[in-house]
Amino acid sequence: MLEYKIATQDTATPVSSAARAKGPVFLLSETENDVLYLFVKKLISESPTLANLTITTILPEAEFIILNANTEQWVWQTLHDLRSESEHFLTPLLVIGETEWESLSDVTDAVLSSPVRQNDMVEIFGQLSQIQNRLRQLEALPKSIGQSSKNRLLLLRYFFSRDPQLLSPQRNYRAKAGYTYPLVQLLLNTRAGEEISFLASVHEAQLLNAKLVDKVNICPHCDHTQINFREICPKCASLNINEETTIHHFRCAYIGRESEYKLGMKLICPKCSKELRHIGVDYDKPSEVMWCQDCNHNFSEPALSCFCLVCAAVFGPEEAQIRPIQEFVISETGYRAAEEGVLPGSGVLGILKKELGFYKNEVFAEYLRLEIARCTRYKTPSTLARFNLSAANEALAEKQLKNSRKFKKDFAAIIGQTFRTSDMFTDLSGGDILIIFTHTDTASTQIAFKRLAENIHKRFNVELKLKYEVFDLSSTATNLDNIWETLK
Ligand SMILES: [Zn+2]
Ligand SMILES: [Zn+2]
Ligand SMILES: [Zn+2]
Repeated sequence: MLEYKIATQDTATPVSSAARAKGPVFLLSETENDVLYLFVKKLISESPTLANLTITTILPEAEFIILNANTEQWVWQTLHDLRSESEHFLTPLLVIGETEWESLSDVTDAVLSSPVRQNDMVEIFGQLSQIQNRLRQLEALPKSIGQSSKNRLLLLRYFFSRDPQLLSPQRNYRAKAGYTYPLVQLLLNTRAGEEISFLASVHEAQLLNAKLVDKVNICPHCDHTQINFREICPKCASLNINEETTIHHFRCAYIGRESEYKLGMKLICPKCSKELRHIGVDYDKPSEVMWCQDCNHNFSEPALSCFCLVCAAVFGPEEAQIRPIQEFVISETGYRAAEEGVLPGSGVLGILKKELGFYKNEVFAEYLRLEIARCTRYKTPSTLARFNLSAANEALAEKQLKNSRKFKKDFAAIIGQTFRTSDMFTDLSGGDILIIFTHTDTASTQIAFKRLAENIHKRFNVELKLKYEVFDLSSTATNLDNIWETLK
């Protein structure tokens, strides 16, 4: 049950403007009462840094979510409903519970145990606001985006807004591979463990960096890790084997278990009935101390057999597949993709980048400066163009889906006809692209863009409204203030 404590001595905590939280908070309690509502209302009225928070009853409006829980199970159920909706996957979320449930730390932004102190709430909202501020920087994802790309970008944006965030595997014997990533499971709304292949593909696209934390053996027939490794007789494969000292009688060459020789305190050979007195003289003890009860085979190393407890398959250990279990952090490429809302290598921007090679913003800015100096001094023409391919991306999405390899090839060919390798490219957040067309005047640049649209129309039968602006770099009258601003 929620209790609330007003801070007594420590009300003088300095109030930094960065920690000031603003926006609508959505409240949800496990038990139907208005304690949480009254609590948050009181908090807002008494804490200067929280004065700009409001309480909303409309979930899609929420910029913060607070769950007031009695049981962990309810939190999981609620998180399942909330986080599997892409609108709410990124929303900063606080849980107030009976205790600080540790299993929730990966899937929530904070867990506080009741009674909650006013200062703790102020501090938590400072952290949640930082997440919200980062989310506000991001543009909405394009509507045309496919579900799988959307999930990738949502995961990357989760990392982006909560940097540094480590995605660690959690042990779970119910999962196929024995581990799960609960956050990704919530995002994809899948059964435990099925998110691993999704993560592997995001990692393969170099959007995540991975660190190996475990290796699990996987049944080659059903992909589960619930394998029983048993020692068996290498001759008849019986499980019925045990260890017993082995005795080799030199005189008659009989080899048997020690128990066969034992007669009271003496050792008597069961074959030739002679007494064995001195080890090394009459007999020795070979290292083959394993005995099969079924075929009486004597050996030193048992064989290993795998029995899958899920599908009952029996196979040799060399047939078991080994799967790495990794923890993940966002890579530089992933960070950039999260910021731009565009996955590299996907869509026309990806092809463009691959075909032409893009410069980093700061390097591009340096080239631009040199080009302007060169053009104004020698009066040679050069043009800077800014254009955006997101319209093309949307228009061409369907073509791309149908036959992505052919599309890539065709689009790359058009790119090759339109641009020269001596042109210089960079891309800005929001999908804008800047190009320096060296030795080209503005009229020729416009013809190049016209040709690009025509070629796309011819090849893909898509009418394209390419938006672009051109700037004459040889003219001192050209104002590039906006461009410099975007390149910062
Ligand atoms: Zn045997
Ligand atoms: Zn003997
Ligand atoms: Zn199996």
